[in-house]
Formats: sequence, C-alpha cells, structure tokens
Amino acid sequence: MIDRNANVLLMYTGGTIGMVENAETGALEPFNFSHLYSNMPEIKRLKFNVETYLFDPPIDSSDMSPSIWQQIVHVIEDHYDEYDGFVILHGTDTMAYTASVLSLMLDNLTKPVILTGSQLPIGKLRTDGKENLITALEIAADKKDAIGRPIVPELCVYMQNLLMRGNRTTKINANNFSAFTSPNYPYLGEAGLNIRYNDQFILKPDYEKPVNFNYAMDPHVVILKLFPGISEAVVRAHLAIPGLKGVVLETYGTGNSPIDLWFIDLLHDAIEQGIVIVNVTQCLYGGVEMHRYENGQRLEKLGAVSGHDITTEAALAKLMVLFGEGKTPAEVKRLMSVSLRGELTVRR
Ligand code: ASP
Repeated sequence: MIDRNANVLLMYTGGTIGMVENAETGALEPFNFSHLYSNMPEIKRLKFNVETYLFDPPIDSSDMSPSIWQQIVHVIEDHYDEYDGFVILHGTDTMAYTASVLSLMLDNLTKPVILTGSQLPIGKLRTDGKENLITALEIAADKKDAIGRPIVPELCVYMQNLLMRGNRTTKINANNFSAFTSPNYPYLGEAGLNIRYNDQFILKPDYEKPVNFNYAMDPHVVILKLFPGISEAVVRAHLAIPGLKGVVLETYGTGNSPIDLWFIDLLHDAIEQGIVIVNVTQCLYGGVEMHRYENGQRLEKLGAVSGHDITTEAALAKLMVLFGEGKTPAEVKRLMSVSLRGELTVRR
C-alpha cells in the first residue's frame, strides 16, 4: 500500500548510477542530485515525498571504508524519525560488503533501508538505474497496514527486479544488469508488473524496542582463500599480521582444508593466541558442514568456527563489528555461528 504522506530519504554515496552523459561532450559526469526533480522528472510521478542527501565527494565504491559506513549510519540515525524509509545509492562493486555491515550496525531496524545502484549510468539511454531507483523508492515507502508499518523493515539490496536481504547478497556478474544474487536465502520480493513481496521471509522487528545504531568497528581482520599449492609462507604471513583478530578462511566444498602438518600447526597456534578462524565455503551455494570429511573434522577439532552458509562479505563484516564492540574471542566465536540479522542458516 502506498502511503501518500510517506517521506523517503534518498542518499547518494557515489557509483555508476549517479552519472549522466554530457550531451555535448559525451563524457560521464556526476548527476546533480540536488536538482533531482528537474534531472529526473519521473520522480515527480511518485505519490510520496523524496528528499536527497549527498555525500561529498561521491565515491567509486572501491573506495568504500569503515569511516564512510559510519557516516552513512550517522545520517540514518540523525534522520530516523523524519523518514519512513531510506534508499542508498551505492556503487555495485562493494555493495554486498556495505549491505552486510550496515545490517549489523543497525540493530532492531524498524524501517526499510534499501541499497541500489546500476551497471549503466542513470543518464545513459539503456540505463538500468532508473528502474532500480524508482522501484527501490517505492519499496522504501510501501506500507503493510493502516498504522503505517513498513512491508520490509530490513536492510536490503534491490537490483534488477530482485529484492534481497542485504547481508545475503554477493555480486556475481561484472557486466550484466542482473549483477547480484542471494545464493542461500530466498528473495524478499520480485518486481514485475507489481512488486510481489515474500512476507514469510522478511524479518519482523520488535516495534516496542528502539533501534540501536552501532558504530564500533575493528578492521583487524583478513580473508584467506585456500588454493591447491598454497604455501606455508602465504598462510604464515596472513596469520602474522600485527593485531590480527579474525580470519575468514575460504575453504573447499563443505569446509575442507589441507591437513599438512605445517598448515594444522599454524592454525592451531593462531587459535591458541585467540585469533578467531571462521570457516566459510568458496562455493557460491550451500554451506559448511565440517563433520562430513576427515579434512573438515580436523578444522573443527582445532577450534575453527563454522560460518554455515554465510557469504564471505557478511562473515568479514560480522568479525569487524563484533570485535569493534569489544567482544572476547570466545564470544565472537559463539556469535559467528548464530544468526544475528538473518545472515546465516544453521542446519544440523
Ligand atoms: N566502480 C563502480 C562502483 O562500484 C561500479 C558501479 O557503480 O557499479 O562504484
């Protein structure tokens, strides 16, 4: 149901979507979002109010950083009561990382926060940006009932007809408009002639409780991807990073790694020092089940923690946020195997 009095805040952080082609020179230039209504007259046809907030300077999302994540959350916190929903325009390259981390920074979210972007600039004739933007705005304004509760009170990514839980997404295509998927969780909605929501998969917050904005973040984390032939020097160098607290270990299949003595010894020493090793699979679909094979069981016995079917992006974000909150390695270990915002499914 569209609420005619709804107010949506459209935040532009940067990325391809915000570019227009200069008609004379053909060059791509940043779109002037402060003149949104004159640059994109379609917005006027929406039946609710849209206001804009620009990050200055707009960035390519390859330059995304914890401090910009904190700025985004500050803007949401400062304006939380004024708006019914938020749309964040963001480059697609690191959108899955931002979606994952924001889902954890925003605790007990009661309003939609929708990230979107595009593969072609909004000013290009064949752009995918207009549909992505207009539909994301509609989703942010959509209400479930007469008392004004939103349909999607969670952190989402909307791209190319698909509404996805943000912390379940990953970018899978560098060229196609369908650049994202949510491999291990059903879509929250699909846009066709109408927007169809899959209500049973959408988070239900406690509206009696306040939303909490968490800013703390610890960047002493690393992703270590295994490959046949990985050398002792490579693993040793990763685990010897000064101040390291957490490792996302991308293993094979259901969570298997080599069982060479040097590898086991290095991991054992790291875990003894309090470094949390999270086992995630390199496969796009499915998750870790360490008990299945002897090689996986070795990791489990050492004390590596299963990330189940979490994405690498969400595992990294979760380590940053949990260590940022000052949790002990034992607490982080426990929480990495528990779903905090629907970012993983535990199957036994
Ligand atoms: N490099 C761009 C970015 O992530 C690509 C995009 O916007 O899709 O900011």
